[in-house]
Amino acid sequence: MNQVFRTPIEYLRGVGVTRADVLKKELGIATFEDLLRHFPYKHIDRTRFYKVREIQPDLPYVQVLARVTHMEIVGQKNVRRLVAQAKDETGVIELVWFQGIRWIEKYLSVGKVYILFGKPGEFNGKPQMAHPEMELYSPAALKQKGNMTLQPAYSSTEKLKPFSLDSKGIQKLTATLLDQYASEIKENIPLYILHQFKLMSRADAYRNMHFPEDAVKLNEAQHRLKFEELFFIQLKLLKNKLLRIEKFKGQVFESVGHYFNTFYNEKLPFDLTGAQKRVLKEIRQDTQRGVQMNRLLQGDVGSGKTVVALMSMLIAIDNGFQTCIMAPTEILANQHYQTIKNLVGDDFIDVALLTGSTPKKNRKVLHEQLESGQLKILVGTHALIEDAVQFQNLGFVVIDEQHRFGVEQRSKLWRKNTIPPHVLVMTATPIPRTLAMTLYGDLDTSVIDELPVGRKPIQTLHFYENQRLRMFGSMKEEIAKGRQIYVVYPLIQESEKLDLKNLEDGIEVMRREFPLPDYQISIVHGKMPAKDKDFEMQRFVKHETQIMVATTVIEVGVNIPNASVMIIENAERFGLSQLHQLRGRVGRGAEQSFCILMSSHKLSYDGKIRLDTMVKTNNGFEISEIDLQLRGPGNIEGTQQSGVLDLKVADLVTDQQLLMQARKCVEDIFAKDPQLALPEHQVLHFAFMKNAGLSWDKIS
Ligand code: ADP
Ligand code: MG
Repeated sequence: MNQVFRTPIEYLRGVGVTRADVLKKELGIATFEDLLRHFPYKHIDRTRFYKVREIQPDLPYVQVLARVTHMEIVGQKNVRRLVAQAKDETGVIELVWFQGIRWIEKYLSVGKVYILFGKPGEFNGKPQMAHPEMELYSPAALKQKGNMTLQPAYSSTEKLKPFSLDSKGIQKLTATLLDQYASEIKENIPLYILHQFKLMSRADAYRNMHFPEDAVKLNEAQHRLKFEELFFIQLKLLKNKLLRIEKFKGQVFESVGHYFNTFYNEKLPFDLTGAQKRVLKEIRQDTQRGVQMNRLLQGDVGSGKTVVALMSMLIAIDNGFQTCIMAPTEILANQHYQTIKNLVGDDFIDVALLTGSTPKKNRKVLHEQLESGQLKILVGTHALIEDAVQFQNLGFVVIDEQHRFGVEQRSKLWRKNTIPPHVLVMTATPIPRTLAMTLYGDLDTSVIDELPVGRKPIQTLHFYENQRLRMFGSMKEEIAKGRQIYVVYPLIQESEKLDLKNLEDGIEVMRREFPLPDYQISIVHGKMPAKDKDFEMQRFVKHETQIMVATTVIEVGVNIPNASVMIIENAERFGLSQLHQLRGRVGRGAEQSFCILMSSHKLSYDGKIRLDTMVKTNNGFEISEIDLQLRGPGNIEGTQQSGVLDLKVADLVTDQQLLMQARKCVEDIFAKDPQLALPEHQVLHFAFMKNAGLSWDKIS
C-alpha cells in the first residue's frame, strides 16, 4: 500500500480526534488503510427486482416480488422453524425463519404479495431465503424501493452510533477516502498476471468492494482481492523455501549401507507397502542433493509412518550421522522407543530414550554418548531440544505429531549441527490439501495413502442410547475372545463438572455390568496425577485389565494391538478429527476391530453429519475435507496458532480452486525468475517490503 494509507485516520476529512479514537477502540480502524480494508459485510441490491428464476446463491442481498402461497411450522420444540413458499411467474422460492416465528406467522398472510428482501441461499438445490425482510406490496412502496444502487452495509457497534458512525456514517467516510485517494492505490501484481487471470486492477477492486457498479463487478472485485491475498501468502512461503535452499546446505547421504541393508533384508518383519516405498524414495532423493530436506509426512494412524522414519534414519546412520525422533508426550516417546527397539533388535544399533523423567545420572551418560557419537538414535520429548543436549554429528531429525510443536522448536533442532539436519515432520491428522498448502506451503509433502495389507478396515457403528444393552453384549463377546476395549468419555472444560459426573456414572454402570473378579477395569482421566495415570495405563498394556475407561487422554498415538474395540460415549460432542483419531487407537492387530459411537437421539444437523461420516469412511483425508467444510479452517486442529490463516477476504473452503491457481502462478514465477530480477517482477519486491514489512532476503 502507498505510504499515504498509513496516515492516521483522524486526518481524514470528517473524522478528527474524537471519532478517530472510537473508531480505533471499537473497530480497530487506526489508519486510512484500515478503513479501506473495513469491507462491507453485505451489499444491498435495490437497483431492481429479481425474478425467482434468476436467484443464485452467490448474489448479494436482492429484492423479489412474490406472492406467499403456503406457510407452516415444522420441526420440534427447540429446532422449530417457519417455512413459507412464495412464487412469481417464474418459480417458487422457499422462505424460512428460525426466530421470531410467532410474530412472522401473524404478519404473513397467504395469498398476498410482498416485497421480499434478503440474501439468496439454496436448500436441497432449491432457492431459499432465510429471515428475509418483508413489506406488503403497494405501488407506493414499490416506487420508494426502486431506483437505488448497490449499497454497502458496514459492521458497526452501539458505541459508535452516538458519533454518527453507524453503517451510513462509515459509508460516508469510505466514500471520502476513495474520492481523495483511490488513485494512490498502486498495483502490486505484475500486469501480465492480471491479464492471464483476467483480474481487475487493484484500485478498481477496492472501489468496487465498497461501491460496486453492479453485482458482476462486485464479484470481480472480490475475486481479485482473494487472489491477491492467496498469491502473497504463497509468494512468502515459496520464497522462504527457496531461501532455505540457497542459504542452508544439506548433509549429503552418499550411500545406503550396512545398517539399512541389514535391517531391510534381515529384520523388517513385513513387506513395505507401495506408499511406504514411494515415500522412502522421495526422502532418499532429498537427502542426496546437498540441500536441507524439510518434508511433511502425512498418513493415517497405522499407515506405517514410524517404519519409514526409522529406515530413513538408518540411511543417515549409514553415512556416519546421528538421528533423533521427537514426540509430543512421554507416553508416545516411550512407545516409539519400544517400537524401534523391537524392530532393530538387540546389539544392532545404540538407541536411547530421553524424556523429562530421565534421571540425572542417566542423562549424564547419555550426553557423553551423544557427544562421542556412539549413540545413533535418540528418542524423546521436548527434552531433546534443551541446550545441554549436544550431538557429535546430527544428520536426521524426525518430529512426530507436528501440530504440538511450533516452528521455533523445529528450528532449535536445526541448530544442533553446523549444517542443519534433514527434517521429517510426521502427522497423523491428515489435513486437507488446501490447508496443507497454506500451513506447510514451505515444506515438501509426502503422503502414505495405503494401509498395510491384511489390515481389516475398522467397522464403525452408530448406536443410540436405547441400544446400550446390545453394546454391552458386543463388549462381552469381544472380551471372551481375549480382546481389550476402550471406552472414551468427553471431558470438555466448559462443562467439566457435568462431564465428570457423566464419567463417574458411566464407570458405575460399567462396574455393575462388568463385575470383579471376572472383569478388570482401568480408569484414566486427565485430572489424575501423571503417575497414577501411567500405572493404570500399564495395567491395560499388560492386559491385566480388559476395559479402559478414559477421557480423551489416550487420543494420540498409543499402540495396543490387542485392543480391538473403541467405544465413544456422547460421540456427538467430539469433533470429526478427534473421533477419527480416537478410532485410530484400534485396528492395529490382525483381528476385526470395531468402533461404536454412542449418542443420544437429540442430534444437531452437524452432529449427525459427523457420525454418518465416521460410519461411512475410514479415510482420514476424506474426513478432514468434511471437517473443514463443517468447521471452517480456523478451527481445524493445529491451525489456531498460525497467523497464515488470518484471511480477510479469501476462504480456504470455498476458494480452493483459486488457491491452486495462485500457488501455480507463484511456482511459475519462481521457476522463471527465482530472484525476481526481471523488470516485470519489480513490483513484487516493492510489495514485499511495503506490504507485509517483509524483506526479500530474510526468511520470515
Ligand atoms: P503410524 O505411525 O503411521 O500410525 P506405525 O508405523 O506405528 O503407524 O505402524 C502401525 C503398525 O503397523 C505397527 O505395528 C507396524 O509395525 C505395522 N506396519 C507398518 N508398516 C507395515 C507393513 N508394510 N506391513 C505390515 N505391517 C506394518
Ligand atoms: Mg505413529
